[in-house]
Amino acid sequence: MPELPEVETTRRGLLPHAGGRTIVALRVYDPRLRWPVPPTLEGLLAGRRIDAIERRSKYLLFRVGEGALLVHLGMTGSLRVHTRPPPRRPHDHVDLLLDDGTVLRYHDPRRFGAMLWAPAPVEAHPLLAALGPEPFDPTFDAAYLRSVTKRRRAAIKLALMDNHLVVGVGNIYANESLFRAGIRPTTGAHRVTARRLARLVDEVRSTLEEAIAKGGSTLRDYVDSAGEPGYFQLDYFVYGREALPCRVCGTPIRAIRQGGRATYYCPNCQR
Ligand SMILES: [Zn+2]
Repeated sequence: MPELPEVETTRRGLLPHAGGRTIVALRVYDPRLRWPVPPTLEGLLAGRRIDAIERRSKYLLFRVGEGALLVHLGMTGSLRVHTRPPPRRPHDHVDLLLDDGTVLRYHDPRRFGAMLWAPAPVEAHPLLAALGPEPFDPTFDAAYLRSVTKRRRAAIKLALMDNHLVVGVGNIYANESLFRAGIRPTTGAHRVTARRLARLVDEVRSTLEEAIAKGGSTLRDYVDSAGEPGYFQLDYFVYGREALPCRVCGTPIRAIRQGGRATYYCPNCQR
């Protein structure tokens, strides 16, 4: 599933090819995504200039004037740049045609993604309005995290994955950040001290930054490439490493379930 680093890499891959260009047409071959692609969308986009491509959580926002085209990649979606578009393949659902002939092609086998219009003010769109701060935003700091966790008895991992508190910390990154911060994922959020939360903020950022940096080497996958963009394989400390020795202390990594998701931790390094 595309996580924040893949979405950010997509944004950076699209920007030099689509930023500042004018949209000529939107061709919807199959509108049946998570929500139907609105029939009014082409009329809202055609003839408009893409002023900026931004990311909010895992949403891409193509700013056109006051509104924006809002794209989510769902479980299996990808958005690719074609300077000489090849014939459509199965699961190529939408083409965005630009004034220089470039095509942005949306491909999504499972069709859990979204392509919607967000009118001004874009931030008030129902999918965006309740989102917490971005992990790289200066407002996401230890004091903030303490203020939103001090009365939460839920496990710190579940708090970290709650989009109302902070966006973009998916399961892999929550597992890895908690390992790096030395915090056991099952600890009640209210019991994690401000000092340890400060460490956690740093580790969330560095884990995501490393994944985005890895993505940088795959940027060309988004342009005129036949293959699917890959998902970044970090050298995980704990994720997917059940019963394997901890890379730091050698203790076997434990796997449990939390909120329906797999949690991995080192019982020695994380307390
Ligand atoms: Zn360990």
